[in-house]
Amino acid sequence: CGIVGVIGNNKTTDILLNGLEKLEYRGYDSAGIYVNNQNGKDFLVKEVGKISKLENAVTDDVQGVVGIGHTRWATHGKPTIENAHPHFSEDNRFYLVHNGVLTNFEELKTKYLSDVDFKSQTDTEVAVQLVDHFAKEGMDGETAFRKALSLIQGSYAFAMVDKEQPDRIFVAKNKSPLLIGLGDDFNVICSDAMAMLDQTHEFVEIHDGEVVILQKGSVKISKIDGTPVERDSYTVNLDA
Ligand code: GLU
Repeated sequence: CGIVGVIGNNKTTDILLNGLEKLEYRGYDSAGIYVNNQNGKDFLVKEVGKISKLENAVTDDVQGVVGIGHTRWATHGKPTIENAHPHFSEDNRFYLVHNGVLTNFEELKTKYLSDVDFKSQTDTEVAVQLVDHFAKEGMDGETAFRKALSLIQGSYAFAMVDKEQPDRIFVAKNKSPLLIGLGDDFNVICSDAMAMLDQTHEFVEIHDGEVVILQKGSVKISKIDGTPVERDSYTVNLDA
């Protein structure tokens, strides 16, 4: 179980797949990627089994400048294609990967999502459908994401792409590992620095209860309620 993401790089698909390979050691039963070319075209590829199976399923046309990827270790729902991440909202607007376990997903489902046609048996899908629910009530993507986070309990590292705003990745963390990596005119996300050392050695820690709006040239960290957070980056020195 691990997550990766990248924004602002033409080699999005390669970076995601390479990162997922590096995270294989964490264990997984399925994997998937979502890639968007910021020009109206996007791709979702998922496979059960090894990362090499996912790599074989990814055709050459899967190219873009923003993407998220996931290796799954099932906690809710069998290891199937439908239960593999990324998960998406009913109208295919929001795409989300998640590591961890949501503890109140049944309550959230009953309270807010009784009309939704769920595609998977995962706790995770509740999170992405909840964001969509608040967006349908009129909130913008970021406000809907923060509203969902204020209600969700449990452990998570989330990375989410909003098709209506594909110039950013929405990120949040609580009790599951997550780092931001600073590239040269692009940025990445990973559960473990190891996944992105081919891209950068410069990382920023994210703490529990924080949200990141990640763009090609900026990393904006805040609390769930929007209070800004300042944090310096650090360098991972391989010789140390
Ligand atoms: N609880 C989620 C699921 O079962 C995420 C598991 C993980 O961390 O890989 O799909």
